[in-house]
Amino acid sequence: MHNDLVAALDIGGTKIAGALVDGDGKILVQARRPTPATEDGESVMRAVTEVLAEVGASPLWTRATALGIGSAGPVDAAAGTVSPVNVPGWRGFPLVERVRLATGGLPVTLVGDGVAMTAAEHWQGAARGYDNALCMVVSTGVGGGLVLGGKLHPGPSGNSGHIGHISVDLDGDLCPCGGRGCVERIASGPNIARRALEGGWRPGPDGDTSAAAVAAAARTGDAVAIASFERAAQALAAGIAATATLVEIGIAVVGGGVANAGDVLFLPLRRSLREYATLSFVRNLTVAPALTGTNAGLVGAAAAAALGRVPAAQIPADTAMSAPTAL
Ligand SMILES: [Zn+2]
Repeated sequence: MHNDLVAALDIGGTKIAGALVDGDGKILVQARRPTPATEDGESVMRAVTEVLAEVGASPLWTRATALGIGSAGPVDAAAGTVSPVNVPGWRGFPLVERVRLATGGLPVTLVGDGVAMTAAEHWQGAARGYDNALCMVVSTGVGGGLVLGGKLHPGPSGNSGHIGHISVDLDGDLCPCGGRGCVERIASGPNIARRALEGGWRPGPDGDTSAAAVAAAARTGDAVAIASFERAAQALAAGIAATATLVEIGIAVVGGGVANAGDVLFLPLRRSLREYATLSFVRNLTVAPALTGTNAGLVGAAAAAALGRVPAAQIPADTAMSAPTAL
C-alpha cells in the first residue's frame, strides 16, 4: 500500500493543477494550465483533460489507485458536480463523471478546496497530530474545513467547515453569497484592501493596492492599515471562537495569502480570540499559520482520495502529539 500513488487535481479560478502524490505526500509529477475562467464549460474541461493527459503520460501513472479533486466551490460531492463562483461556465458541471471517463475509471473523490487544504494540513502541516482542527484559507475569499475525531469531515456535499460564509456581523454588509456580515466580507484580502482605501490609506509609488501592500504599510506603523487588519482579525476570531464552541477544536490553522502578513494578522487575531473564546473548553485554543504552502490543494486532494490510509495512523507515535509552535 505504501507505494501506491494517488492522482490529484486542484481546480481554482486562475489555475488547474494535476499531480501524482506518494504515500508521504510528496509530489512526483505535476502539470498545470491557466483556468480559462471566462470561457464556456467545455473549454474549461479541455484544460482539465490536458492536465490529466500530461500527468498520465508519466510511466508512474499506472501506480495510481485513486484520484482526488479539490475544487473551488461550491461543490456537490454527492452529485459529483461543481459550480465554482469564479468559473461561470461550470454550473452543476459533472466533473467527477468527466474525470472518471478521462482516466479510465479510477475511483474519484471530490471535495471543496477548503476541505482539501484541511486534509493537507492534517496530514503534513500544522494540524498534524490534532484530532480536532479548523483549517482556513484566507486569500481572495475565505474557505475552510474541519477535522473531527481524527478524521477529515467533508460533510455530505464536501463543503463542511466553510467558515467564510458564517455571519459574524448581524447587520453587516451584504455578501456576494446572499448573506450578510460574513467572515469573508470582512476578512478576505480584497476587503482588507478596500477598507484601508476607504479609511484613507494610499498605496506607494508602485500603485499596489493589494492586502499584501496594506500589510507592508501596517508593519511601518500606518494606523489605517493596522486597523484594517485588526478588523479582519476580529472577524476571523469570532468565526474561530464560534467553531470551537460548537465542535471543540484544539487548533485553528490559518493559511492563504493574507496569512503571509504574519504578526500583522496573527497578533490581533490571538488578541481578539481572547475576547470571543471565553469558555473553559475553548480558552486554550492554539492558532498557527499553515505549513503546506502552494501545493496544499494537490496534497490535500490526494489525502482526501486516500481517506482510509491518511489519518494519524501514519504518524510516528513520538511526533503525533507535538504541537506546532504557538506564535
Ligand atoms: Zn457570504
